[in-house]
Amino acid sequence: MNTILLNNITDLRLKIKEWRKEGLTVGLVPTMGALHNGHASLIKKAKETCDKVVVSVFVNPIQFGPNEDYDKYPRTIENDLKLSNEYGADIVFAPTPIEMYGKNTSLSNTELTFVCPPYNLVDCLCGKSRVGHFDGVATVVLKLFNIVTPDYAFFGQKDAQQLFILKKMVKDLNLDLTIVPCPIVRENDGLALSSRNTYLSADERKRALCLSKALKHIEKTYLQGITDTDILFDTAISILDSGVEMEYLEFRNFETFEKVEKVQANTLVAIAAKVGKTRLIDNIIL
Ligand code: AMP
Repeated sequence: MNTILLNNITDLRLKIKEWRKEGLTVGLVPTMGALHNGHASLIKKAKETCDKVVVSVFVNPIQFGPNEDYDKYPRTIENDLKLSNEYGADIVFAPTPIEMYGKNTSLSNTELTFVCPPYNLVDCLCGKSRVGHFDGVATVVLKLFNIVTPDYAFFGQKDAQQLFILKKMVKDLNLDLTIVPCPIVRENDGLALSSRNTYLSADERKRALCLSKALKHIEKTYLQGITDTDILFDTAISILDSGVEMEYLEFRNFETFEKVEKVQANTLVAIAAKVGKTRLIDNIIL
């Protein structure tokens, strides 16, 4: 095993300093662990782009709501280390909440400096049901950027709203790094890989397929010449009705994040739905 597991910030900073002295470039792949082939594709891309790669594995308490799955989120560090090693990561950085926040519980904005992305980007899509989620994401990602000081950071398009918000943070706060978006990795039958897929029963796994099916159907209809998003919405809704509880299905311009009525190039179609108790997201860019 070449990949080193580090749990504390001081050790990681020492290692990064050594690399910097040698003039090496550094890539960061932030994750919450329970790594799968989606994460592997980010690590692979990072290794192709940079001399050294740090994968962070941290289930970030401040991005979970009180009724969300923080406690039961899968933690599989042995396997994460194995997969990171397989794809050529140099370091897996897996801090505890105490190492990151000096505390073992979630924190509020009366106790911690938070990064607050623009309201119009967080008060929609996933941010509507997950209030405060993107403040928690932006805060931990900025902390990771400050700790690792990467030249490049790799994020999946699977979390399209997160990707958009983090690109905006980098621009607005003049962060000296490049965000590299990476395409969604899917199972053969179309289901987008997610650490939360492990929550699904066999029956729920089957029902979850309707998310990617609905997106594919929208893409097919759009390629046949339909650009009106109300019509595209209606054509997908009957597919989604079959056994999942839809939270949203929206069309947004992926350059401005504004809602679109007629699809143009670079339109994000994003879905969130509950399958049983599991909340899944998926999207496609038209
Ligand atoms: P997570 O561990 O869920 O926080 O995800 C860590 C990173 O992996 C994020 O940038 C995600 O967008 C990305 N990711 C998660 N699932 C996939 C997937 N199926 N394909 C590509 N990237 C993914």
